[in-house]
Amino acid sequence: MKIIIHGGFFSESDQSHEVKIEKQNSLKKIAKQSFEFLQSHSAEETVVHAVKLLEDDLLYNAGMGSQIQSDGKIRMSASLMNGQTQKFSGVINIENVKNPIEVAQVLMKEDDRVLGGNGAKIYATENGFEDFSTEIPQRRKEYEEKLKTGGKGTVGCVALDREGRLSAATSTGGKGFELVGRISDSATVAGNFANEFCAVSCTGVGEDIVSNATAAKIVIRVTDGFSIKDAVEKTFYELKEIDGFAGAIAIDKNGNIAHQDSHPTMVFASYDGENFEVFE
Ligand code: ASP
Repeated sequence: MKIIIHGGFFSESDQSHEVKIEKQNSLKKIAKQSFEFLQSHSAEETVVHAVKLLEDDLLYNAGMGSQIQSDGKIRMSASLMNGQTQKFSGVINIENVKNPIEVAQVLMKEDDRVLGGNGAKIYATENGFEDFSTEIPQRRKEYEEKLKTGGKGTVGCVALDREGRLSAATSTGGKGFELVGRISDSATVAGNFANEFCAVSCTGVGEDIVSNATAAKIVIRVTDGFSIKDAVEKTFYELKEIDGFAGAIAIDKNGNIAHQDSHPTMVFASYDGENFEVFE
């Protein structure tokens, strides 16, 4: 059993040392809590659990604290993929729900498993999700000052459970100030993908991740015999050719984990019950 989570990017130039420490501590805490949850739950349940904790933490740009789009509204995207059943579910540009990843989880049982915009919100309401604003004053201030902070704070988790099953979950508030209707990578197979061999969650510039098909490529390479390390390296090498900006966390069926970023520094933490690895 193993787990690795990410919380987007950290930038020395626009975030303080205190924020770095806060992110390291929060990621360690959430990785440990989620690993404990994994003892008695499936990989699918665990990645949702971890991403919900990350969405609830104001440090990240997903759920609470999501970025505000160019028209002043928050629209969030999240997706879930079960590597064993090969089912993918997600919401794209959903408004006013507290935890988009939980809506994606409920959608798993449907034939129509990826819903967008108003349809996603109607489905959430019908399934008992209350109206909830995830806006925090700091984001409104950034929006009003038109300060593009980069907004690289998507969250994600990949996990391997005791029965050898893999799952991936990813959730984002977007990149901030985006055109209304923009679809990021986070609820696509470029940003979140898993099968029985490998599971991957990405963060970074959605357009670059989609152009590079990052998560799907890494998973397919591992399926075809690459080591997880080589699969990640080759995929990031190809990302360089388009000057892409991304980070990814990955886990294979043997519990090997990998993480890479094209630009420093993706924030991540992994935990296996004994050892932590946390971004520096
Ligand atoms: N991938 C997200 C997007 O482009 C942003 C991020 O990872 O922070 O919407």
